[in-house]
Amino acid sequence: MSILYANDLTKSFGATVALQGASLSLEPGEILAVMGPSGSGKSTLLYCLAGIFTPDDGTVTFGGRRMDSLSDRERTRLRRTAFGFVFQFGQLVPELTAVDNVALPLLLSGKRRTAAYEQARSWFPRLGLTGLEGRRTGELSGGQAQRVAVARALVTGPEVLFADEPTGALDSLTGEMVMDLMVDTVRAEHTSVLLVTHDARVAAHADRQITVRDGQVIDAGARVR
Ligand code: ADP
Ligand code: ADP
Repeated sequence: MSILYANDLTKSFGATVALQGASLSLEPGEILAVMGPSGSGKSTLLYCLAGIFTPDDGTVTFGGRRMDSLSDRERTRLRRTAFGFVFQFGQLVPELTAVDNVALPLLLSGKRRTAAYEQARSWFPRLGLTGLEGRRTGELSGGQAQRVAVARALVTGPEVLFADEPTGALDSLTGEMVMDLMVDTVRAEHTSVLLVTHDARVAAHADRQITVRDGQVIDAGARVR
């Protein structure tokens, strides 16, 4: 059974139609790449699936529950507990240290400080970040910062990781390294991933690739792994 699915989503911004009948499903533990040219509706699809945007029409179902049946409060809770997010950049607090950034979602969810920091630190070796715990994230390289962002997204144990062009700001070699570590980590955690990218090399890390064009999923993709 799918963990997350979108059925016939429509979304417009004024006169701009971003989605027109987009459907997809994400299986437990699956890494799904959403490909397509710039402006095709990939990010809008991700934001609708994550409950950040409300579609004009169509439904999103997570864990058997329709998102539109949840209150705003329940949806916010779901985003904090069941979903993790990695974007191109800008998700870390640059003035805070790497470990502060990773501990933050745990502290916000009410975890005690000692336990939160212990748990946050345990992610550093897994992502090749040992020794960088006390560094301000504004002083890290792009690849290091994205690995901290991955740790921060996964530290709460989400069921689905939403990644929108997670390597978009990195050179291709660094991007490959970040993707390898991210994929190893989500496989170990059995986290499902919705990976938005226009880069075929990034999409090659996925189990399945779908293509969005003009707001529709035009190719639901065969399993490649
Ligand atoms: P992609 O991620 O494939 O580049 P987007 O989902 O970001 O595509 O955008 C799809 C279309 O919707 C584009 O024409 C974009 O300009 C428009 N769009 C997306 N978000 C907004 C918004 N918040 N306000 C107005 N237009 C938007
Ligand atoms: P991407 O690289 O993922 O396609 P975009 O630059 O299209 O990113 O969009 C980044 C953010 O800006 C998204 O939140 C998107 O919804 C929003 N956005 C995109 N196009 C517009 C627009 N024309 N007006 C307002 N917001 C937009």
